[in-house]
Amino acid sequence: TATIIDGKAVAERLRAGLAERIAALPFRPGLRVVRIGDDPASGVYVRNKDRAAMAAGFDSATIHLPAETSEATLLALIARLNADPAVDGILVQLPLPSQIRADAVIAAVDPAKDVDGFHPINAGRLASRQPGLIPCTPKGVMHLLREAGATLPGARAVVLGRSQIVGRPMLQLLLAADCTVTVVHSRTRDLPAECRRAEILVAAVGQPALVRGDWIAEGAIVIDVGINRGADGKLIGDVAFAEALPRAAAITPVPGGVGPMTIACLLENTLEAALARRSLPAE
Ligand code: NAD
Repeated sequence: TATIIDGKAVAERLRAGLAERIAALPFRPGLRVVRIGDDPASGVYVRNKDRAAMAAGFDSATIHLPAETSEATLLALIARLNADPAVDGILVQLPLPSQIRADAVIAAVDPAKDVDGFHPINAGRLASRQPGLIPCTPKGVMHLLREAGATLPGARAVVLGRSQIVGRPMLQLLLAADCTVTVVHSRTRDLPAECRRAEILVAAVGQPALVRGDWIAEGAIVIDVGINRGADGKLIGDVAFAEALPRAAAITPVPGGVGPMTIACLLENTLEAALARRSLPAE
């Protein structure tokens, strides 16, 4: 039966390490989270980010704008935050209301303050193996794989999902770690067969329990990025957890797996951005 990878505990250790490093700095790294409208799920994420940031010693604040905010108003706010020397990290909570183009907003953030790592400059740096800010969720997955003792060079890794924020950067990070990577998605012909070849399986599709027990190779490490609301209102992942347990060597639970790591990596990115902007060494 699989070892359960305790993302909450790993994230706590990561945040404690960041807090220690921040306490030793002569300044507090600044994070601004911008939230538009009243999407309740975003509300929970934003509160958790703010709370974790403040607990670790960041100068963190949420800027909450009404749902009818225009794109021009949001772009003007981003320009002010880009120019503010006290701000090291800017995060615009997605999804955005329909009158605002997410692409335009993402491209407006100074790449040096883009702690989500979504700016095309940072995506391009990741793809061309240059240093830059890396999307938080895939970065958190890499921490968890190392924590689970995965041997990455040469390992057959399968990424389920090809989104800009999870699947694609996940491919780049696993490739940079010398895995043999396959990305599968909604147009893949035989998902179960592709998944069964995986020694490392990362599921990021947003389909509750899509990955069944018999899709998982004996001894695989399974990282479940999915966060879905089940019929009973409880959170469930993209992997049928109980079916996966007897086959996998290690697996992340939902909740308590990847989710807490995403926030910890956002804070890690904010500290990295703060140091890089001041030309201070990363360690
Ligand atoms: P997305 O909807 O942007 O992308 C989903 C991807 O999965 C697409 O590439 C699509 O091709 C593929 N897909 C969808 N249905 C499929 C199917 N039936 N078979 C095969 N492939 C299919 O989603 P996303 O933003 O990448 O998020 C994926 C999941 O991860 C969601 O549940 C989301 O809530 C969760 N998520 C969690 C965190 C976290 O912090 N843990 C962060 C981001 C996203």
